[in-house]
Amino acid sequence: MRALTRLDQLYAIGAGTRLGYSPEEDAAHELAARWLQQAGLDVTTDEAGNLFGHRGDARIWSGSHLDTVPNGGRFDGALGVVAAIEAANRLPGTELGVVAFRAEETGPMGSRRLAELPDAFLEVHVEQGPALERLGEPLGIVTGVAAQARGEVTFEGRAAHAGTTPIEERADALVDAAKFVLHVRECAREGAFATVGALEVEPGATNVVPGRVTLSVDARASTAEALETLVEAIGFEPSWRQDPVAMSGPPLEALRAVLPGAPQLISGAGHDAMVLAAAGVPTAMLFVRSLNGGASHCPDELSSPEDIALAVDALTETLARLSASAVSDKR
Ligand SMILES: [Zn+2]
Repeated sequence: MRALTRLDQLYAIGAGTRLGYSPEEDAAHELAARWLQQAGLDVTTDEAGNLFGHRGDARIWSGSHLDTVPNGGRFDGALGVVAAIEAANRLPGTELGVVAFRAEETGPMGSRRLAELPDAFLEVHVEQGPALERLGEPLGIVTGVAAQARGEVTFEGRAAHAGTTPIEERADALVDAAKFVLHVRECAREGAFATVGALEVEPGATNVVPGRVTLSVDARASTAEALETLVEAIGFEPSWRQDPVAMSGPPLEALRAVLPGAPQLISGAGHDAMVLAAAGVPTAMLFVRSLNGGASHCPDELSSPEDIALAVDALTETLARLSASAVSDKR
């Protein structure tokens, strides 16, 4: 299958490491630009380096990103671009566009220009979690992206000599921080997520009792209310919040018509589709089953050729439906 060959070709660039705006991401964009031209699309870029391929006055767009986290997988992002190019190949003469976004992994920015262009956006992406594998379903329809809050918490203690300060006299900031990390984990209940992912210990020396610890908190839940409850339970002050984003409109309706009975999921991860949906573009997202227990952002990331073929079929049919109804609207 050509899609798999292309995923291999992309993976070979940087062996799974294509950071945003790196030479490896550049090379991936150059390769994708050639594929877009071969599909008969006009190729342009914008000031942020996002790559566009389009036929005519395309108002219906699909795509994803080509950057990865360090030592990432074969499918995250790349699948959405490769699948969109496959769909464009199968729909010759249809006015549609394919986009490859830059630097999604460092915080998806989408593209202001694209938000002005499309009446519809569709992103195919690997689930990056275990839900579809557990359900035994190859594909899932994303109905929205979870609400999210991030912040930092600082613990003040007293730096002291590790060899002479009696244990009972210490004010060890890291011991307090460790209790808090366990508390954060306890607060995340069914459907909610809370993570301490970064921790800075000061002075950070093996022979000094930690005097100060700053840690990050990342909290996510399916609704704004559930997120508020979670933030209160954890007890931290978010410095950044993202409201939940709903998928909607003709792209979601078309995807549901193409995949009746497919499971519907909330995405806990942010995506390019989230940025476009938040900008008011009618947007839908199709998840492809992640195998290996949902492994992602690592070389174990895996989706089967059969599931990928089903995703390309579903994307193609959804784009064809959207295009047909756009043409009939014009008449
Ligand atoms: Zn991604």
